Amino acid sequence: MDPAANLPFRIARTGNLSGTQVFASRDIEAGELISVEPPIAVLPLALPSLSPSPFDAIFERLDPDVRRTIEGSADRTLRKRRTLAEHIIRTRGICIELRGENGRVVGHTGIFLIASQVKHSCSPNAAYVWDKDTFTLTLRAGRHIAVGEEITIAYTPLMRPRVARQLILRSSYGFNCTCSACTLPVAESVRSDQARIELAKWWEHSVSFEYWLADDEQPRDALILAHVRALAVLDSEGLFAPRAKHLEVVARCYGALGMRDAFVKQATEAADAWRVESALGLTGSREKAEQRRRRCGRWTRDPEAAVFWAKRA
Ligand SMILES: [Zn+2]
Repeated sequence: MDPAANLPFRIARTGNLSGTQVFASRDIEAGELISVEPPIAVLPLALPSLSPSPFDAIFERLDPDVRRTIEGSADRTLRKRRTLAEHIIRTRGICIELRGENGRVVGHTGIFLIASQVKHSCSPNAAYVWDKDTFTLTLRAGRHIAVGEEITIAYTPLMRPRVARQLILRSSYGFNCTCSACTLPVAESVRSDQARIELAKWWEHSVSFEYWLADDEQPRDALILAHVRALAVLDSEGLFAPRAKHLEVVARCYGALGMRDAFVKQATEAADAWRVESALGLTGSREKAEQRRRRCGRWTRDPEAAVFWAKRA
């Protein structure tokens, strides 16, 4: 059987010069593995434009088939660098960390056969995580990806206004982003900018669960409404994370209000979101995310055992 038949993605060329894009070859679930691969080349982060080009020297050492594939993937409408190799490395390289001398962690650029062909979107549906110990990059779906949909990742921080994202994408990668979030009508674009700024500062300005629990003056539904709103803003911006923290607070509130069914339902969703975000490397400490996933799981099995159960009922 053709091994490609089982892959959840296919790589396709959509124009003569615009390079390749990666598409879902079947439905992919949130958190599901798309690819796992070692880099085909690794370079120091800051490689100067020397003559002869060190970029070309690296490409000359690649396996000829691999080189043909990666050169064929390049978007030549953007080519402004001196050589194709430099263009690909500077625009398709992924920042990875390696353990250097004395165990010091040093940033490098990695070129990957699959992940380096995945294009950017400001509302991406996938994310990757680099593991310096296994020397592999794992690409996973951040949300459900329907068959035929393009698989996209973020090349830039997403909780910034459009103009800030465009600046990074233009200066570092040489393209103007034309994703759905960047091509909204003016009024919608202003609303989108405000939404992303609000999300970036969300936790600075929000009331904590402990504060809400201890303060009877706080309306019973205040915290639930606030977090449901944050989740709705994430949805409207097409952002799949961070959801787990919001879902967990909503679950806790329902638990504190003694609303058993709603508590179990929200805790189930929160546990699932922790699983996905941890697999995608979006939670900082994987261990802590796993603890929180397990704790949400315990609430679903025995809601009344939660320490805050019915404290504001
Ligand atoms: Zn964009």
